[in-house]
Amino acid sequence: MIASVPHVRAMTRYPLADAGAPGNVSLARNESAFPPSPRALAAAQAALARTASYPDPDWTELRAAIAATHRLEPANILCGAGSTELIGALIHAFAGPGDTVLGSQFGYGFVATACAQAQADYATAGEVMMCVSVANLAHAVTPRTRVVYLCNPGNPSGTLITNAKIGALRQYLPDDVLLIVDQAYGEFADAAQDAAQVFAMTGRGNTVVLRSFSKAYGLAGARVGWGYFPPELTAEIRKLLNPSNISALSQAMAAAAMRDRAHMAAIVARTENLRDGFAADARGLGIEVPPSFANFVLLRFPSVDLARHADRALRQAGLVLRGMGDYGLPEALRATIAAPEVMVRVLEVLAEVMA
Ligand SMILES: *Cc1c(COP(=O)(O)O)cnc(C)c1O
Repeated sequence: MIASVPHVRAMTRYPLADAGAPGNVSLARNESAFPPSPRALAAAQAALARTASYPDPDWTELRAAIAATHRLEPANILCGAGSTELIGALIHAFAGPGDTVLGSQFGYGFVATACAQAQADYATAGEVMMCVSVANLAHAVTPRTRVVYLCNPGNPSGTLITNAKIGALRQYLPDDVLLIVDQAYGEFADAAQDAAQVFAMTGRGNTVVLRSFSKAYGLAGARVGWGYFPPELTAEIRKLLNPSNISALSQAMAAAAMRDRAHMAAIVARTENLRDGFAADARGLGIEVPPSFANFVLLRFPSVDLARHADRALRQAGLVLRGMGDYGLPEALRATIAAPEVMVRVLEVLAEVMA
């Protein structure tokens, strides 16, 4: 039998969230409860006429839209097939055998997969009260640490740490350690704190900020993410990206979605409204819910047994939440905020389970 190289043979595939049986409603993948901007759909329709040609390898229109919205320098923006592609490229570029990537306790499962691909070690620092602890991250840095990854707002906690804490961590880290700030849910926290402060940190040459169209823009299926990079890193990262990584349709959709600020703001506002009502009701049932700045909440049940019972009862009702056992939180389920009528059904089942 033909054999893959040893480190690939030793790897396990990234465990995508189980979407349940056909016909089930998935609240497992943090997809948007609401459809993307109609302008994005119209842009895709128009782009259909251009599919005989390869897409723009420089994402020119998309980068211009992002730069105009966030007041950034287009040349320092790179786009990926989801921000997942950018996370992978960053880890491959800065960590290899013998190097360590340091993440936060609950973090994002794909970071461990990217480390296995790059043959780098993955280490984690404990969180405190379900929040990223920059003190614990700082303490866990060793001479082998090449990359520090943190997600803010966090996943699966949904919690937010201040920009000042991220700045303090950057101050502490050696200059030759790359800091990745994953803001896949950043649009849900932009009202709480100024994103420009974090984008400005890239000016130090060793910090990258990542965002995604998969959550607040309702474009998970289009596979578009982007990042703001120090200028000296962009050439290195581009070596590791697929040369035509984002389809013409997806580029057109993402650019149009980025320009339709009002639509994105409405998705965020409606999602937050549903989320805060749902979280309050779940707390009323005796479930612990950390304050969320994302489009999901973490439901921490009083026991592992109750969490399992809730998972079974929800699945019987056709509702699939994300089990958190692989994140070391077997007493928890993560619930993406879905349409209002779906959240009502989830609460009904939870009320029965907690009764
Ligand atoms: C959803 C998510 C992403 C973004 O994934 P895409 O590849 O852009 O769809 C990145 N990081 C975290 C923590 C996420 O939850």
